Amino acid sequence: MPAASDPSLVIPVTIEELDSAVSECRRCPRLVSWREQVAREKRAAYADWTYWGRPVPGFGPTDASLLIVGLAPAAHGANRTGRMFTGDRSGDVLYAALHAEGLASQPTATHAGDGLSLYGTRITSPVHCAPPANKPTPAERDACQHWLLRELSLLTPTLRAVVVLGGFGWQALLPVLAASGWTIPRPRPVFGHGAHVELARPGSQPLHLLGSYHVSQQNTFTGRLTPAMLRAVLGTAADLAGLRAEQRAK
Ligand code: SF4
Repeated sequence: MPAASDPSLVIPVTIEELDSAVSECRRCPRLVSWREQVAREKRAAYADWTYWGRPVPGFGPTDASLLIVGLAPAAHGANRTGRMFTGDRSGDVLYAALHAEGLASQPTATHAGDGLSLYGTRITSPVHCAPPANKPTPAERDACQHWLLRELSLLTPTLRAVVVLGGFGWQALLPVLAASGWTIPRPRPVFGHGAHVELARPGSQPLHLLGSYHVSQQNTFTGRLTPAMLRAVLGTAADLAGLRAEQRAK
């Protein structure tokens, strides 16, 4: 049961309010303890950093038409810098691909004030706090679900496509999409790299749901996910979201 001061009891009416409320959340005791322990103890290479050590809100414009859904912040990446996929090897791969596809202003992401901006694209995750061993529990995923639900709701007027990085995000997002009014086909769409499903919702334009292997080092170092594979999915999603048509018109 959330405490009376739990910021999640207040329903954000804008993305800015949502981001602010997310960054104050303390609902999951194990994750609060872990994210703060990591921030205190630090990695030797970042000893002179003041770690963020809090939940990491979504990053990108509030009227995005493309949403990228990951897993959870990395202990010494986003949990250090306070911005999604910023300051680690996973982010290096993701932002290089976003930049190559015309969706990011630069190919690198090192810290929150590095000048990076995203074009029509927002990045979020189903769990906003860094988990031990990068593995949130099902209870933690469920506890954080209301933030994703609200983010999706606030983005729905402009949202046209979602790219989910990895099976965890896929499984976490499907019930949120269903709760938001999107019809999920039966049997449920199966996650895979290149998976693509078009979802319908009364009164809304179709939403394209695409899957990509996660940009984890486990996938990128082994070649399971190559830069070309990632760019192919992001490029398709950008086209489906109408982003590259917008750019061509400029
Ligand atoms: Fe709050 Fe989500 Fe972090 Fe849990 S994982 S403390 S619900 S922001």
